[in-house]
Parts: sequence; C-alpha cells; structure tokens
Amino acid sequence: MWRAKEKNDKTQLSFKYKIYPTREVEEKLIKVMQIEAKVYNALLDVINNARKEGKKITPKDTQNMLKELKIEGKELVYSKALQMVNNQLWSNINALHELKKKGKKVGKLRYKKILKIINYNQSGFKVEGDKLILSKIGEIKVLFHRPLEGEIKGVIIKKSSTGWYAIFQVEVEKKPLEKAGKVVGIDLGVDKLVTTSDGVVIENPKVFDKVERRIKILQKSLSRKKKGSRNYEKVRKKLAKLHEHVKNLMSDYIHKVTSWLVEEYDEIYVEDLDVKDIVEDSESKVLRKHILHSDFSKFVSYLSYKAERAGRRVVKVDPRNTSKTCARCGYVKKDLALADRVFVCPECGWTVDRDYNASLNILRAGSGLPLEPVDRGPLLYIPFSEGVYSKFLGRSRKSPS
Ligand SMILES: [Zn+2]
Repeated sequence: MWRAKEKNDKTQLSFKYKIYPTREVEEKLIKVMQIEAKVYNALLDVINNARKEGKKITPKDTQNMLKELKIEGKELVYSKALQMVNNQLWSNINALHELKKKGKKVGKLRYKKILKIINYNQSGFKVEGDKLILSKIGEIKVLFHRPLEGEIKGVIIKKSSTGWYAIFQVEVEKKPLEKAGKVVGIDLGVDKLVTTSDGVVIENPKVFDKVERRIKILQKSLSRKKKGSRNYEKVRKKLAKLHEHVKNLMSDYIHKVTSWLVEEYDEIYVEDLDVKDIVEDSESKVLRKHILHSDFSKFVSYLSYKAERAGRRVVKVDPRNTSKTCARCGYVKKDLALADRVFVCPECGWTVDRDYNASLNILRAGSGLPLEPVDRGPLLYIPFSEGVYSKFLGRSRKSPS
C-alpha cells in the first residue's frame, strides 16, 4: 500500500540540456551509435526472417539474442543501452503497425546507418557538478540552463543538426496546488495561440514568420554551395542555429502560458490534436505546418505534465464541430469557412469571435455541463510582448513552485 501511494505522489518529467563532448568523446559517441545501428539492423533481420517463416517472435526473444549476437565493437556499448536498442526497434515496429491499422500506407522499417540516440536507462550514468559521466564513454560537460530536479531515472544522449543533447528522465514529487474553483475550455490557434472560455486571448507570436525570409535566403544560399564544402557547412550551421532560436523562443513562451493555465484552473479542456486538422491556412507551406504542429503538441504535452504535477486535470475532447457549432443555441453551421474569423449564427443571430465560440464548445464537451447563455464583454487580449503574467501577476504568486 505504501509503495502504491508513494508512486502516486510522484510524476515523470524530462529535462533537456545541451552538452559539449570533447572531440575524443564525440568520436566514441558516434562509434557507439553506429554499432547500435548494426545491432538494430541485425535484430530487424531476425524479426523479418522469423515472420517470413511464420514463426512468432517477441521483444523478449530478441532481447535474449543480444548476448549471442556477433557484432564488431558490441562490447563498446553499455549493456543497458543495447537493450534499449531492442526496445526502440520494437516500438518502431508497433508504431508502424498502428499506422497500418489506421489505414495509412506504410512501407517497411528501414536499415539504419546510425542510431541518433544512446539510451542509458536506470544505470550507467552519474552527474557530478556540471558533468555527466557515462559508463563506457566518459565525461561530458552539460549546460544546465535550468536546474535539474528530481531523481534521475535515465539519460538519453541525442545527436541533432544543432549539436548534442542530454535528456534526463526524472521522477519528481507532485506539488499539488490549492483548488482554484474554476474550469476552462481552451482553443489553440494560429493567430491567437490560446483563447479561453472565459475570454482571455493570448497572442501567438509566430516567431517563425518573423525569420522566414532569412531562413529562405539561407536555404537558397545553401542549395548553391557544394555539399560538404566549408562554406556549405558554415551556412548549414547558421540555418540550424536560426531554427533552434525559433524553437527555444517558442518553448519558453509555451512554458509560461501553460504554467499560468495550470495555476489558474482546476480542469483544462483542450482539443485532441491527434484528431484535429490544424491546417487552417491552406497557403501555409509544409515547414510552417510542421512547426505549428510541433508547437501545439508541445503545448499540450507541457500542459499535461504540469497539470499532473500540480494535481490538476487536462481533458482532451473531440475537436469535431467545435468551431462550427453555435455555443449559444447549438446550431451547426456547416458552411463556416476558414476565413470567417467571426461566427454569426443564422439560427439565433449570435455574433461572436470564432475562436471564443470554439472555446465555449470545448468547455461544454469537456465538462459535460449544459452551456449557460453567454454574452460577455470584449475579450482580454494579451500580446506576446507583455506576457500572460503581466495581466495576472497577483494570482501567479500563490503557486508554490
Ligand atoms: Zn445560435
């Protein structure tokens, strides 16, 4: 009983930091990632062959094969990390299977030249000051831009175009907040990042749009350079840095907004992004859509873990018709166009901001309560430059975290 309770008082979080391996350590990391890929490919072969012969094969089976597997340099990889390669392979297989079930056209899993992560789960790592010490690898300097909290359960080393990262998976104590006595529906959007059912609008800074021109210029310049040349690398790095800058700005902003929501409300209803088609702007380019999508999923993921930690609840609701339904009388306006920023109900005549109307429907879908007649004053608009805490300073103080 005690154990179970203990578990309930804790929650998992992850903290991501930039790391700076020395040249020597970097070479080791890359070597390990290449060996991991060989292991991954070998196990993939085993699975494919077994299935061809109609034999049943499980993750446990392939894990048991790891010991016998003849791969050059295998001893350079920490044993737990090797097991995680097996886990990753099976999780890829399952993800593919899920897509297939949903009727998506999917190919086969491909062989990998390099696995871009090394996963130290449970053991093989240690943090001393600003250094991460990894078994079979050595010391790596970590830039702890925000303090690492909780009990470290695992570390994932990741290589990306902007450098090296360590993602610490930690278990932290929950810090329940006092009841706020309020629930809210929120609509996530392109122009307004958040519109709440009690009339607060938080601007979407659309950081990407502001640097889009510069990104395009750099991309063009990159396409004219010889791949692999010094100039190519220079531009490529600049481009990666710019993307990282945009990402960090937005992450920071999303942190603030989600913290505020969790402090302010006991239950937060949000549309289920897996179902919602967020492509509101038919002209947006693939990259922008991609960024938008990742911002929204980041938003919901931050919101969820913060709520979990604070003893709040985030409920995902079916997004169908949240924009098209009149929140006052329930009429469904099938022909509402994407460009209609104002919802005008042909049935009851209600004229209201489109996103605010949606947030009211989300509130209703989440709370299950019948909607009370709403007619309110102007929405409270909070621009990016001011930040959400500028308007709600007093209330933010009660947060213990
Ligand atoms: Zn109506």
